[in-house]
Amino acid sequence: MSKPKVSFYWCASCGGCEEAVVDLAEGILPVVEAVDIVFWPVALDFKRQDVEAMADSEITVSFINGAVRSSEQFEMAELLRKKSKLVIAFGSCAQLGGIPGLANLFDLQAVLSQSYLEAPSVTNAEKIIPGVETKVPEGILTLPALWDTVKTLDQVIDVDYYLPGCPPPVQVIVDAVTAILQGKLPAKGTVLAPDIALCEDCRRKQTKPEKLGIKEFKRPHEMLIDQEKCLLAQGLLCLGPATRKGCGSVCIDGNMPCTGCMGPISRVTDFGAKALSAVASLVDSEDEKEIAAILDHVVDPAGTFYRYSLPASLLHRRYQPTARGGIA
Ligand code: SF4
Ligand code: SF4
Repeated sequence: MSKPKVSFYWCASCGGCEEAVVDLAEGILPVVEAVDIVFWPVALDFKRQDVEAMADSEITVSFINGAVRSSEQFEMAELLRKKSKLVIAFGSCAQLGGIPGLANLFDLQAVLSQSYLEAPSVTNAEKIIPGVETKVPEGILTLPALWDTVKTLDQVIDVDYYLPGCPPPVQVIVDAVTAILQGKLPAKGTVLAPDIALCEDCRRKQTKPEKLGIKEFKRPHEMLIDQEKCLLAQGLLCLGPATRKGCGSVCIDGNMPCTGCMGPISRVTDFGAKALSAVASLVDSEDEKEIAAILDHVVDPAGTFYRYSLPASLLHRRYQPTARGGIA
């Protein structure tokens, strides 16, 4: 009997999701034994033409990580969708837009200008910004077109399941692969991780008061953090109340607040709005000025509450009027 065929692909992401697969360590051996990996550009020398030559739905499952923000990523996502029975959005960038999705706070011109002209580490005397076509003596060089707006995978192709996390925790990957191999998958569209808030899984939850009031938000480097007490109760912005469990509370165990990489539970539509509302409800004041002063300590609210989820949010991106008068 032929083995299930599996592919991995990498769109706009840091590469950590690919490392999470390798993090399976010796656990990867039974997986490799049970499947045929037919496409994995980061690790094996397969080409796009190899995928194009396959029959439609020939691949059992494609794990695609990263947000989609270029013509090439879109073409590859569409190609793998066509050639795969199942497509899994692998990691928070594919599921929610992830950190690359914060580019939706700016337009493309501002992103390119910052990256190629303004960043302190840049040396670019000729002020060259890469474009789709570049003339050189030998002819014309082409690059994929970069999009103005970063999208989640399910905003460009049909997605069957989601593996959350930045990167997805090893156990979540193992459980998903086992469910696929055994044909025991839940309903299409399910996020393959426990549908419970992280606080429920946290060893510090007993120290989280029933009624919590916060007078001052602090950042981790501004204080000595108690290793046992609930981080939110210490005034740190821990997003555990709004975040899905499944990571084993690794940040909390490292004495750092949760930043929300596992995304929301199924009853939440907009992670950032939910996290913002959970935190705002803890502000211990009825005085407008004092409330404003307390919230002033939340540095970079968009980057804090929408760190992994701006493209998937109801806002999707910041309004940017274009030269044509539309929205970028
Ligand atoms: S807020 Fe954070 S530290 Fe407190 S119980 Fe929830 S996950 Fe744990
Ligand atoms: S504690 Fe929060 S940020 Fe850290 S891995 Fe878990 S879900 Fe992600």
